[in-house]
Amino acid sequence: MENLHHIVVVGGGAGGLELVTRLGNKLGKKRKARITLVDSGLTHVWKPLLHEVASGSLDDNANEINYRAHARKHHYEFQLGRMADLDQIGRHVVIAPFLDEDGHQVVPERHISYDTLVIAVGSTANDFGTPGAQEHCIFLDSLEQARRFHNRLLNAFLSKNHDARCGASHELPITIIGAGATGVELSAELRMASRELPVYGMNHLRSADINITVIEAADRILPALPPRISASATRELEHQKVKVLTGQPVNEIRNDRLIMQDGTELKSEMTVWAAGIKAPPFLSELEGLETNKGNQVRVRQTLQSTTDDHIFAFGDCAECPQSDSDQPVPPRAQSAHQQADTLFKSLCHRLEGRDLVPFVYNDHGSLINFSRYTTVGNLMGGLSGRSMYIEGRVARLVYTSLYRMHQVALHGLVRTGVIWLMDRISRAMRPRLKLH
Ligand SMILES: Cc1cc2nc3c(=O)[nH]c(=O)nc-3n(C[C@H](O)[C@H](O)[C@H](O)COP(=O)(O)OP(=O)(O)OC[C@H]3O[C@@H](n4cnc5c(N)ncnc54)[C@H](O)[C@@H]3O)c2cc1C
Repeated sequence: MENLHHIVVVGGGAGGLELVTRLGNKLGKKRKARITLVDSGLTHVWKPLLHEVASGSLDDNANEINYRAHARKHHYEFQLGRMADLDQIGRHVVIAPFLDEDGHQVVPERHISYDTLVIAVGSTANDFGTPGAQEHCIFLDSLEQARRFHNRLLNAFLSKNHDARCGASHELPITIIGAGATGVELSAELRMASRELPVYGMNHLRSADINITVIEAADRILPALPPRISASATRELEHQKVKVLTGQPVNEIRNDRLIMQDGTELKSEMTVWAAGIKAPPFLSELEGLETNKGNQVRVRQTLQSTTDDHIFAFGDCAECPQSDSDQPVPPRAQSAHQQADTLFKSLCHRLEGRDLVPFVYNDHGSLINFSRYTTVGNLMGGLSGRSMYIEGRVARLVYTSLYRMHQVALHGLVRTGVIWLMDRISRAMRPRLKLH
């Protein structure tokens, strides 16, 4: 085992987990290489589902994968821990001591040596140093944060329902800062939750008592997508009684209000930050790796870091150039999925001494899902590369197919079919909203 080429992948998210699964099945199983995944958490939930976990429309337990169990099935090793440093010359990653909830050390600092290192540690929200953001905003970067948000939401509904029963003021202002895909989808999910709760006993509260506002600094929501999608998304949000404020940068966040750049104030009892992302800061402190202002590791089209042929990075934490555009590959699940596929081929080639495969991003389009209401977006047409607007059921089907593709990469086609069937049955059996 010791003499096998050791591929260490740090980060088992949308991209990293797909990569280790395929490497494990192909190389680990036949003992052609040793594959190790390092992640700071014990379980994986596909990140684009987090806003559904937050609103309660998704049962997170049913969509959670335990790394240890998955590793055993797919012939890779799993190490629980947070990468903190890197020794490029000695070729090992440094894993910070693992502490329990009370701060007691469970495992001391460890060094994991590698022949090939892949960094896929994703991204976190970027609050751009906005005063009060860290203290008063809720972030949706991890499963724990999404679960915490859900509990806070249920408690806020409970408290306002009590106020309404007593005849007291019971309006609940919720604000989402950032009208990218996450902010827009979350606001629709919250509107759905506010309509469902009275059905489950909180019948003094009306959906109209939950004031949902989504704020965007740019002059339209979904600024990264074509104007037609922004326009139909705005119409849909307004139809769902979500207030849309554009061209309104937020200057400061306080406990119960936001201060806008023009000095106006907006009441907000729950504020979610969903504007912008950055890669984890420790990356920019690693000696010998080139990073950009957003801490992303700069890589070549082979996904190798610009400074070290043995270190690769991909997904949200990497800045990867595109040959036909001056913009880097966008930080999306779609990109991480495609890069995992290219890297899988490249790492197999590398073991055989063959050339690496350059990564070419294929934009298949963007879809925005408005909870159970509708889905809108564009698909990029095959050879012509033209964008085609779609909405409704067909759009919803394509939207869910990205998650199904992730599941196929992790479980194979047959098991994904079984999971899909179980999902359908479970949805029919359980409440439409997670109530605990
Ligand atoms: C609420 C929400 C909705 C989204 N919706 C969409 C969508 O609809 N479509 C779309 O294309 N994209 C969407 N995205 C973006 C998408 O989730 C990301 O682009 C994608 O997850 C990036 O994949 P990744 O593998 O780079 O990182 P991630 O999936 O974020 O995985 C990173 C992994 O690294 C681990 N990690 C982090 N730091 C360390 C460390 N120091 N040591 C060890 N492990 C570490 C984490 O625990 C995690 O498991 C959404 C994002 C959010 C937050």
